[in-house]
Amino acid sequence: MNALAATNRNFRHASRLLGLDSKIEKSLLIPFREIKVECTIPKDDGSLVSYVGFRVQHDNARGPMKGGIRYHPEVDPDEVNALAQLMTWKTAVVDIPYGGAKGGIGCNPKDLSKSELERLTRVFTQKIHDLIGIHTDVPAPDMGTNAQTMAWILDEYSKFHGHSPAIVTGKPIDLGGSLGREAATGRGVVYATEALLTEHGKSIKDLTFAIQGFGNVGSWVARLIHEKGGKVIAVSDITGAVKNPSGIDIKELLKHKERTGSLKDFNGGDAMDAHELLVHECDVLIPCALGGVLNRENAAEVKAKYIIEAANHPTDPEADKILCKKGVLILPDIYANAGGVTVSYFEWVQNIQGFMWDEEKVNRELRRYMTRDTRYEDIGQNKSLRKSNLRIAMASMAITSSLHIASSTHHVT
Ligand code: GLU
Repeated sequence: MNALAATNRNFRHASRLLGLDSKIEKSLLIPFREIKVECTIPKDDGSLVSYVGFRVQHDNARGPMKGGIRYHPEVDPDEVNALAQLMTWKTAVVDIPYGGAKGGIGCNPKDLSKSELERLTRVFTQKIHDLIGIHTDVPAPDMGTNAQTMAWILDEYSKFHGHSPAIVTGKPIDLGGSLGREAATGRGVVYATEALLTEHGKSIKDLTFAIQGFGNVGSWVARLIHEKGGKVIAVSDITGAVKNPSGIDIKELLKHKERTGSLKDFNGGDAMDAHELLVHECDVLIPCALGGVLNRENAAEVKAKYIIEAANHPTDPEADKILCKKGVLILPDIYANAGGVTVSYFEWVQNIQGFMWDEEKVNRELRRYMTRDTRYEDIGQNKSLRKSNLRIAMASMAITSSLHIASSTHHVT
């Protein structure tokens, strides 16, 4: 199912649960603003190449719109719209004062040289600079982008508006980035997992984990679970997959990936089919890559008892239904992977204050934001929320907290 259709379906489900007026429902579904720009750059050989860049600003009821910029061949308007909407609910679930946005360029960053990527990022920034802002819309890294990309955006933006470190988060530390930001999404996933397991009387060190994706998020999740004594028995990425029933030595796997650029030929485990990973025997499955990877084709075969959505929308609604029936507990993306944007918020606060926190404080605050009890208490106290699945319950809470403005600015009678 298309990402936007899936996200809208979940939203409608939550809005029905809340008994939302159809006019309010519509106003929350339609994005605040959709930007689509042409980005033409000269390649290193002098030839011209054109890409399409997007920024979707979904909702600003709770504060400046916030969300990453993705460079990936699958970036298209529907995908960006879905991801922007998810950011609105994500920032509300962890209760940080932001709305939601997302951007991207349909390109394969692996096919571009560093100077081509720089030119592309600068042209994209020139096209959107007057529509983003410290108190309107604050970009961050996502798939295919990183601290270097944010440095180029910051530099280009500052040419028009003066030095403005708070215009992006996920920057290099030297330019006002926050300590702990790079690990934050993965660290937040692990904090959320620990909180869930504790509730069920379980602990990371007693369980086995399969992790799909070994980029920024997946590699941090794997590393932190390994450090906490959890057994990571399978890992995959686009280069391949590796399994070891007695647990993969993640530190060695990281070194191997660093050395060879691939998961292939790692001698601390056996190679496996990457598609197999999602249905591999394990206690906890953590998808950390693209959306829609769990669908009606494979959901019935999933063996895990818990799924932690470190990726954005990895489970489509059909898979959701099948997994729910099987009794698999899914920790939804809008909570599970909110650690990244939470530390982005800390970075933005530090930039505005002109004061840098130490890493220990960043991680302590991250844990606090990821495990604040209110989320579960609200769900626990509300009978209809308690009956529905966690994804819809959390979306309902998020929608509720965006409503105050929605009803007044849209003059719904
Ligand atoms: N790209 C990340 C996400 O999907 C982080 C966004 C941000 O920090 O603004 O949540």
